[in-house]
Amino acid sequence: MKEQILEKFRSVFGCEGELYAASGRVNLIGEHTDYNGGYVFPGAIDKGIMAAIRVNGTDKVRAFSVDYNEMVEFGLNEEDKPRQSWACYIFGVCRETIKRGGKVEGFDTVFAGDVPLGAGLSSSAALESCFAYAINDIFGNKLDLFELAKIGQSTEHNYCGVKCGIMDQFASCFGKKGCLIRLNCKTLEYKYFPFNPEGYRLVLVDSCVKHELASSAYNKRRQSCENAAAAIRVNHPEVEFLSDAKRVWLDEVREQIPEEDFLRAEYVIGEVQRVLDVCDALERGDYETVGEMMYQTHFGMSKLYEVSCEELDFLNKLARKMDVTGSRVMGGGFGGCTINLVKDELYEPFIAAVKEQFTAKFNHAPKIYDVVISDGARKI
Ligand code: ADP
Ligand code: MG
Repeated sequence: MKEQILEKFRSVFGCEGELYAASGRVNLIGEHTDYNGGYVFPGAIDKGIMAAIRVNGTDKVRAFSVDYNEMVEFGLNEEDKPRQSWACYIFGVCRETIKRGGKVEGFDTVFAGDVPLGAGLSSSAALESCFAYAINDIFGNKLDLFELAKIGQSTEHNYCGVKCGIMDQFASCFGKKGCLIRLNCKTLEYKYFPFNPEGYRLVLVDSCVKHELASSAYNKRRQSCENAAAAIRVNHPEVEFLSDAKRVWLDEVREQIPEEDFLRAEYVIGEVQRVLDVCDALERGDYETVGEMMYQTHFGMSKLYEVSCEELDFLNKLARKMDVTGSRVMGGGFGGCTINLVKDELYEPFIAAVKEQFTAKFNHAPKIYDVVISDGARKI
């Protein structure tokens, strides 16, 4: 990819560009915890966006997307928003940098990526983080990494119509090879934990389905969590978010809230604890416990939080049957990928079985993505 981008930059712009990159991400555990003020536990992956870039001395950005084989030129004022959606990410990053007092002038860029689009690996965060980092560096802006992550998040909010949290951009900016990052979504404190699963592979199985329920169900889940937190708060005023509650505090209000809200809250409180347990296990290098927690998360998301679906449950069950170490739905649910921790020797038979049995049952093939936990935004 690197040579291709540099070569394309030379042929389009007739000079050399500087190279930058940022990654997509996985979240090992900690799902639906973000809006409850709990932990998420993502890491950057070995798939991302790479860009060659050079200041061009004008007030225009000229961007060439290798993957869309398309050139877009735009100015840097609010009314210059380009029509192409891929270019809006770059435009948004420029605008958000300017809003934060950063300098941005015209530049030329050629970029390409290998994060599958819309598969739940956050190709958009990789794109935003790559340009947020590159622009910060070439114009000497000295914004810190957190600010760069927020530039990506605000780009999604203000220029791409996606009201996302901070996790994806955070992981894409802060990622480190061989490390996952536990992020406290309430305080934004974070801590790196070693993730070097020797003898195991991390593999995503993409069900290639997205069930429509997702956004209305999401709002209902949030409401249930707020209801449960409000009930607990009566006895325990320190509970700002549901993640602040102890499990026994939830039991105290069981009779006062609808059973559905209770089950949702039971999942969330359990999930926050599982992130902590996984971190402890990683410090001991105990990947079997990590895997078991992943199964527990899947169970919770399927039976308590009820955001799984037939395809994902099928993949999870198959993983369990084949003695895969860990497996769970990754992301909000109702489709997308499972993330699996698989022993080396089980990898081939597992993938073969997934392809054959999933395809036989659902009449379309799943996609398989191998991932390695890698560095986030950087200059190359
Ligand atoms: P994801 O879950 O992968 O983040 P999104 O829909 O949020 O999915 O973002 C995908 C969008 O990001 C694409 O439609 C495109 O506009 C942009 N994008 C991602 N990767 C690339 C790439 N390699 N080249 C150009 N644009 C990209
Ligand atoms: Mg995205």
